[in-house]
Amino acid sequence: MTHFVHDVRSIDPADSTRFGGKATGLARMNRLGLPVPPAFVIDTDACRETGERKGRLPDGLAEQVGAALAELENGVDRSFSVGTRIPLLVSVRSGAKVSMPGMMDTILNLGLHRGNIARFAMATGSQVAVDCWLRFWAMYADIVLDVDPELLREGVEAQRAAAVADLSDTTAAAFEDAVLSFLEDEGAAAPADPRTQLDEAIGAVFRSWDSRRAKTYRAHHGIPDDLGTAVVVQVMVFGNAGPDSGSGVAFTRDPKTGVAQLYGEYLPQGQGEEVVAGTRTPVDLAEEKPEWADLRRELLEHSAMLEAEYRDALDIEFTVQDGTLYLLQVRPAKRTAAAAVRIATDLLAEGTIDPSTALGMVTADQVRRLVSPQFSAAAMSAAALLTTGIAASPGHGSGQAVLDADRAATLATEGHDVVLVRPTTSPQDLRGMLAATAVLTARGGATSHAAVVSRALDKPCVVGASEVDVRPDEQVFIIDGVSYPEGTELSVDGATGKIYAGLLPRAIPDTADLGLADLLGVADRTSGATVWLPAASPQAIAGACGRGASGIAVVGLTDLMAVVPDAVARLVSAIEALSTDPNAPAATVEQVIATDVRACVAAALTATNGLPIDIRLPVFTSPRARQLIDEWAGLAPHLLLPLGPRRLLVAWLEAIAGAVADTGHPATTVLLGGVTSPSEVAAFAELAADVGLACGAVLSNPTILFDAELLTRQGHTLWVDLHELTRCAHGYPEELLFTVSELTAAGGTEGAAPGTALNPLVRDLLGELVVLGGGRIGVDLAGASPAGIAPELYRLGFRTFTASIAGAEELRLLLGQAITDESGGSVHVPVKETGNG
Ligand code: ADP
Ligand code: MG
Repeated sequence: MTHFVHDVRSIDPADSTRFGGKATGLARMNRLGLPVPPAFVIDTDACRETGERKGRLPDGLAEQVGAALAELENGVDRSFSVGTRIPLLVSVRSGAKVSMPGMMDTILNLGLHRGNIARFAMATGSQVAVDCWLRFWAMYADIVLDVDPELLREGVEAQRAAAVADLSDTTAAAFEDAVLSFLEDEGAAAPADPRTQLDEAIGAVFRSWDSRRAKTYRAHHGIPDDLGTAVVVQVMVFGNAGPDSGSGVAFTRDPKTGVAQLYGEYLPQGQGEEVVAGTRTPVDLAEEKPEWADLRRELLEHSAMLEAEYRDALDIEFTVQDGTLYLLQVRPAKRTAAAAVRIATDLLAEGTIDPSTALGMVTADQVRRLVSPQFSAAAMSAAALLTTGIAASPGHGSGQAVLDADRAATLATEGHDVVLVRPTTSPQDLRGMLAATAVLTARGGATSHAAVVSRALDKPCVVGASEVDVRPDEQVFIIDGVSYPEGTELSVDGATGKIYAGLLPRAIPDTADLGLADLLGVADRTSGATVWLPAASPQAIAGACGRGASGIAVVGLTDLMAVVPDAVARLVSAIEALSTDPNAPAATVEQVIATDVRACVAAALTATNGLPIDIRLPVFTSPRARQLIDEWAGLAPHLLLPLGPRRLLVAWLEAIAGAVADTGHPATTVLLGGVTSPSEVAAFAELAADVGLACGAVLSNPTILFDAELLTRQGHTLWVDLHELTRCAHGYPEELLFTVSELTAAGGTEGAAPGTALNPLVRDLLGELVVLGGGRIGVDLAGASPAGIAPELYRLGFRTFTASIAGAEELRLLLGQAITDESGGSVHVPVKETGNG
């Protein structure tokens, strides 16, 4: 005989699969000696069997429920349905392993009928008694019979009022008859007998597991259909029993801020659902009002015990009956991103949890949201929406609309925030795009120049806003017949494609008192990894140092040059001169480089404040060069070789060495991009050594990785450009590959091992490289979302990373979590911390 029914005190509190979260929570509270109304649970096996029997309860269940009811009766010295003691009322509560808010049902106050209502009223008064009874019928109608409870309430109002005014056998019978006949008229015959009602209610809760809305919810949240729900039948306590009664919800910590103080609401003289329904204004438990001091103290004591048990912040449902507090439910509290960080950091500091548990209590997504400046939801809903385009690059930016790239750059230099508004963008607009807080184009799709470049620059961008007629010559743009002059203030939401009128304020929550820095420190110590950042402008470099960067990398020389007006344009002319004539005069090549490169690099080196910086020389085969150089297709072939013309290489190196001499910077490394063989790196290293510079290479194609052994033996700095490497491995054109993660979106690259995001060829090559080269080799993740990929690279053995600046904190957290994942049984390549020793 299968045992489906269990006293809540006897179940295994860890087995929420079988008993559901509600029952195991009650069991844990019982073990701690906390005041919980007695209850029994019907397990999820019974739910599954009911499903298999097309909604009929399992054989023998009714008898088991009967025996459990008898025990409840004796425990509290009350009688269920018939008997001489005060009537026992129960709640019938659904409770699955995972909470599905609002999906499953609960019935309160089951157990009343015409034969025991008067006896019940002796304990509670007729007002409360009839109120409970009507409330039961409303819930029963709603949940078991699918009849509108409001119609029922209206239909029996006269009989209810009569029973309250003078509760007798006659008025009670009239009320019950009115309810039953109303339901019969609705086509839903209902039993008057509480025992039958209980069985029906249990069946209804089991059947609600298979309701359409519950199924949809589970599909959406990835919850398996065969989990089933348990049903808890619990002795009722009454928050509506009188002035010293009420019910409420308490959080052990503030779910909005995470601050460790009691938070919640208490509704005097109310049963639980009224708190949730928000019909009356409840008491704020955070306020230390003298009249609620006892309740607060008791809740605080229970909170402390429960937090120690659960090692997490909790939400607790409770009821007070005649001055006695009862706890009805406990579970980990839902919380905001800010609260998640605060709670994890505090619990760690309090010694309640260990570092890896703390890191697991916060998601990368939460961290990312906390550190990126955002328009507030309130500001967005209050703002006027001008138009909507294609969301091309996420982030929020606002400023005055400027329709010309040069004017945008000039205004930005003067300290104005600008939004670059163009019909489309082209390489000539790059300076303006760099200067703008956001980019808006009327034409083009998700792979347009504006979209691709904005994503590379981590700049909010909306493209293809086809309702906008941009007229740069007239310095106006027209939407819906309304003409807006240049200078009109706009706000751009690159995540939704929405364009708002006016300057919406952007704010980063003050992470200083959030504990985020502490948590990320824990992540760094746990992972032992270092995160560098690719900041290019002196301000961005200074900002990156403030965000805990271990160094600045990999930063392109041309990016560093964008700070000096026209420096990029002069450089491009110098390159074009060299392309047409290898013997072009030094005045057009070496001197331009000596002046501009030296000045730009010196400014960057000063901004690092002594932090190491790895600078990559321009690569003319790169998609970036193609966007910068108008006559790119006409470049002479010798410029496209990894080493390029020797005189150009020497000019770069001398200019950078000059900047190092000017600033006394201690750790500058120059990187050669696009290399295909170790011999190129060796030749480059000789030239770098001539001017006293440390050097290395950026690895961006599979060919160079086949020589990993030779390459790592040279001992230079190596950075893997994951984005470019993956693109090469797939043979995709740049425009179709915004991010590596997009390529690997739905459950990994085709052919990759389950749970991995890396292309299999890339994974094999990198696995070998890191075994040979150890922790010295860095991976440049810029352009990729680090989720998925960063932990996988960590498990391969990589310990040095660089990512987009916006993703720095997210990446540090993910690396801190990666060690925990490791024990989950993924492939593990041992790390050689000190290279190939
Ligand atoms: P949910 O899963 O939606 O949280 P519950 O089973 O927790 O549903 O029930 C909702 C509310 O009903 C509870 O918060 C509580 O206020 C009230 N309730 C449930 N059981 C009892 C009980 N035995 N005594 C008093 N109130 C109860
Ligand atoms: Mg609840």
